[in-house]
Amino acid sequence: MLPLDVLDVAAALSASEQARLAEATAWLQERIRPASVGPWQRDEFPRDLIAELGERGYGNLRQSGSELFIGLLHAQIARADLSLSAFVGIHNELVVGMIEALGSPEQRDRLIPGLSRFTTLGAFALTEPEHGSDIAGGLATTARRDGDTWVISGAKRWIGAGTVADVVLVWARDEADGVIKAFIVEADRPGFTATRIEHKVGLRIMQNADLAFDDVRVPEANRLPGAHGFAAANRLLCDSRAWVGWQAVGAQLAAVDIARSHALDRRQFGRPLGAFQLVQASLAEMFGNLTLSLGMMTQIARTQAEGRLTMPQAALAKSTITRLTRESLSLGRNLLGGNGILSDHEMAKIFADVEVLHTYEGTYEINTLIVGRAATGISAFA
Ligand SMILES: Cc1cc2nc3c(=O)[nH]c(=O)nc-3n(C[C@H](O)[C@H](O)[C@H](O)COP(=O)(O)OP(=O)(O)OC[C@H]3O[C@@H](n4cnc5c(N)ncnc54)[C@H](O)[C@@H]3O)c2cc1C
Repeated sequence: MLPLDVLDVAAALSASEQARLAEATAWLQERIRPASVGPWQRDEFPRDLIAELGERGYGNLRQSGSELFIGLLHAQIARADLSLSAFVGIHNELVVGMIEALGSPEQRDRLIPGLSRFTTLGAFALTEPEHGSDIAGGLATTARRDGDTWVISGAKRWIGAGTVADVVLVWARDEADGVIKAFIVEADRPGFTATRIEHKVGLRIMQNADLAFDDVRVPEANRLPGAHGFAAANRLLCDSRAWVGWQAVGAQLAAVDIARSHALDRRQFGRPLGAFQLVQASLAEMFGNLTLSLGMMTQIARTQAEGRLTMPQAALAKSTITRLTRESLSLGRNLLGGNGILSDHEMAKIFADVEVLHTYEGTYEINTLIVGRAATGISAFA
């Protein structure tokens, strides 16, 4: 039978990385995949699963192997469950990654050990109620220096893990010089509140929140010294967009797997669904989208390993692969018939989750405009 990795991109991994990926894939499929369905349906944050992921080192995967290995591992986490993948990925790329890239040695010593084991949970707070796509220019949360402390005021929206995080990395504009800076805000600081956003139809396990900062005071020691201007955030977003590409690959791995099994198990007109040409056409398109996506991400991993990944490359990968993923999930959902609208059968769960992938980390349109600007030299944002 055709393997999911049709062109065998994993063959480029070392023998030990291949063995580690196989072991992780088996555990994620056996433990995380079935255990995530209930919490997804109930909109619950499964602390037991987070603890198990932490024990296995998923809180800090950044040094765990080659770029391709880390990418394929993120794809396998996403294949098992997209919400937990979002939690793990944002934590790695935008929380641990941000402290490592922009924090002080003292901040790294203070936070990275706990974050790496998920005994400390973090959140990345950039988006605001009035500024989503235009956050770079519009960011309205303020920071005012007062002696050795900073006073943070404003609001953030959509913040992943916002209600469970012990520390929130908040981007705010310095009132004195107008420059965007970032601060560590512990969840027990007076004036900080987090309110869960209810009734999400995608990534339901990931607890997104509205955050309010009502004159929250933090010491100067909580300012990330490397976070100076939006360019610093953009460098993080470049890598995290590439990670969303891997997430979308994982969604397609799951969809192709489920669609093929269903096509072989379910019989209509006296034959398995997979015996009909129109059903095979859907499966062939899904395999094609997955293979294109995996091939593109393999090359993105190579540019990352060489330290050459650019924002237009990351934006092109994120927008193209999420578009193909949406297409495949639509085919896969259709192929399951009525069962395709039941989250118990997983396809509907993934179908809903990939809508978020299309929107977060820069919407499809914003990433398209980044590519368009690079292609023409003309900015069409505003
Ligand atoms: C589940 C989820 C998790 C998230 N997690 C986080 C997180 O952890 N931290 C964080 O900081 N943020 C997070 N976000 C926020 C996310 O990054 C934003 O939702 C995203 O940037 C879009 O902003 P918006 O929702 O305000 O949409 P808007 O900016 O209001 O956009 C609405 C629509 O208009 C389109 N649009 C906007 N401007 C243009 C233009 N110039 N040309 C063409 N079309 C345009 C957009 O593409 C979109 O289709 C999350 C969002 C979701 C849904």
